[in-house]
Amino acid sequence: MAGDDAIRALRDALRLSPENLPLRRHLASSLLGLGRAEDAEAEFRAALPLAPNDPELQAGLALAFAQQGKYPLALVIVEGLIQRPDAPARAWLLSARLLLRSGNQVEAADHYRQAVAIDPEVADANLADRLGVRPVVSDLEDDEDDDDDDGDGDGIELFDEDDDALVREVWAGNAGAPGPEIDVERPALNFKDVGGMEGLKEEIRIKIIHPLAHPDLYRAYGKPIGGGILLYGPPGCGKTHLARATAGEIHAGFLAVGINDVLDMWMGNSERNLHEVFDQARRNTPCVLFFDEVDALAASRSDLKGGAGRQVVNQFLAETDGVQDRNDGVLILAATNAPWHLDAAFRRPGRFDRILFVPPPDLAARAAILRVLCRGKPVQDIDFDHIARKTDGFSGADLKAVLDVAIERKLREAMKAGVPKPLTTKDLASAASNVKPSTREWFATARNYALYSNQGGLYDEILKHLKR
Ligand code: ATP
Repeated sequence: MAGDDAIRALRDALRLSPENLPLRRHLASSLLGLGRAEDAEAEFRAALPLAPNDPELQAGLALAFAQQGKYPLALVIVEGLIQRPDAPARAWLLSARLLLRSGNQVEAADHYRQAVAIDPEVADANLADRLGVRPVVSDLEDDEDDDDDDGDGDGIELFDEDDDALVREVWAGNAGAPGPEIDVERPALNFKDVGGMEGLKEEIRIKIIHPLAHPDLYRAYGKPIGGGILLYGPPGCGKTHLARATAGEIHAGFLAVGINDVLDMWMGNSERNLHEVFDQARRNTPCVLFFDEVDALAASRSDLKGGAGRQVVNQFLAETDGVQDRNDGVLILAATNAPWHLDAAFRRPGRFDRILFVPPPDLAARAAILRVLCRGKPVQDIDFDHIARKTDGFSGADLKAVLDVAIERKLREAMKAGVPKPLTTKDLASAASNVKPSTREWFATARNYALYSNQGGLYDEILKHLKR
């Protein structure tokens, strides 16, 4: 089995360098991912003396305990972990499971929300359901995964076979297959976590944050409140990050909806469910309602045969207009990489009449992103500004690729040398020269629209950026 071969290779490498922390961590996580909890426990125990305070290792050991049914031991670790500001999302998630198991559903739901606020990737529709964290479209399908079949409501069967698989998925970081259920997040990040982008933050403050805080003043001057902001720009450059930070900035809820998911998953029920998403936002004000890939709606207009696509679009526009219901306290943000595919109807006043260009991160933003990405990794005096200067045109996602390349190389070196070494400025600089910035291709397309189809100066910002 491929998994077994990999484990054997890791064990061989560790025999040569037993103090190699990254290797040991990798082996322990792999074992956990394979459901070999007892072996994983032994490896986490062996790794922890090398880094006793490492929150990921502690969370790993707690998960290994939980997988074996050693819940009290798991609980002791998790309780300590979640007191720390750097507790990983998985620790909160495990805490939620353990609390639910002991019948404390309210606190469990809180801890689940905290986990998702730290890392939305850990969202788990099945667990959310059990916790009563309201899914948006609970009635869409019969919950065939619902294994809470003991019917006694005590949740004691939490770590049954299926859940072991879920614990493995939580560890592997891919829990919560994309589906229509959406949690209202409470993002912990705010504008301080968004590197650079000062102009954009100011625009968002003036256009949506201030009107929300001082509605009377705005009304007195005849300024409309509501409507949405459309963020557009090359992929991976922080549109979602900025939207999430906007919610955090005003302590609002955050509802993220991928339009492609809507269209894939909700076929047939799309309008009703779209309405429910808006309603959920209205019930949770103040709330930032964020639609990603919104251009997919426009594409649906021509791609979908018959009236289905059109109806979804019309429903979407009616909801943003707030014709049937008022959208007070709901800030609608949408993002697209292809604004030129959007129907002009989207840009009518009161809809997405405010359209902001999110360019690739500037120098300050790149340094900030790199700092965030290096958090918690073994690094040594990195000159972030130097790397930022070397990565003009890189998106946030490209910068992540730079770090991945550097870490992979370092890991290989560490395996050979038998000693783990921290990442240096040189490592990052050399990795950066091997990663191609992905935004250039986008600008090649965008340039044509900006030059030849720039109605009302819609894409002036792109031209300005290209002239830099
Ligand atoms: P897509 O169009 O592909 O959905 P996007 O524009 O929404 O991409 P994000 O997902 O927000 O991009 O950003 C990609 C990554 O870069 C994220 O991990 C985000 O945290 C990071 N990032 C981007 N811009 C910034 C920034 N200004 N400050 C801090 N982190 C950033």
